[in-house]
Amino acid sequence: MQHFSEAEKDLYRVAREKMVETQIKARGIKDSRVLQAMLKVPRHLFVDEALRDQAYGDFPLPIGEGQTISQPYIVAVMTEALELKGNERVLEVGTGSGYQTAILAELSLWVYTIEKYPSLLERAKKILFGLGYKNISFKSGDGSLGWKEVSPFDAIIVTAAAPKIPQLFIDQLLEGGRIVIPVGDEYSQVLVKGVKRGGKLYTQTLEPVRFVKLVGAYGFKE
Ligand code: SAM
Repeated sequence: MQHFSEAEKDLYRVAREKMVETQIKARGIKDSRVLQAMLKVPRHLFVDEALRDQAYGDFPLPIGEGQTISQPYIVAVMTEALELKGNERVLEVGTGSGYQTAILAELSLWVYTIEKYPSLLERAKKILFGLGYKNISFKSGDGSLGWKEVSPFDAIIVTAAAPKIPQLFIDQLLEGGRIVIPVGDEYSQVLVKGVKRGGKLYTQTLEPVRFVKLVGAYGFKE
């Protein structure tokens, strides 16, 4: 892993503080654990060296394979919606850069993360191991199928847009569990939060979003 001088680390810390103040708190995120995690996780390590100066900007950035690291605010909204207290087992579909994975690892007991592209998964794994996270299981494959062997989960986060919420995700969610997932096509998507009660999913729409597509058996076709 690349080494940074103390002065560089300070610059990134200040950028993180500004990001949390102006992009996240200012837009209504209140969960203090989410705010703390976003102050702590060094987002600049999850983007390519050439894009490091933009790592704390108010936008997504490319990470290779035509995919993106999500905008910080969207990471915060999705994480807050999961209502994590610290003892949850969480499924993440779409590891991407691994940044959201790190935030989840800070806030829960164990994270199970699935990524379609092995190259992205390997890169994320390296960064997350380098940062010392020991509560993450990684899998390369089609996350639209969930991860039956280690289900059920207290929370599921999907960071790519699905045409609709796959029933398999609901099946793999515990009673009282939360799911947050973008639903829609490439032109129009909304972030949906669902809570499972009495075997049924009760949903609410959070806000319009723009994600890459969930490509797989229960997502979009290639
Ligand atoms: N949360 C990530 C981050 O902070 O870097 C951003 C993830 S990016 C917006 C969406 C990811 O979902 C991409 O890396 C993409 O390859 C992955 N993806 C798309 N379809 C998938 C599938 N069926 N199973 C697993 N991953 C998938």
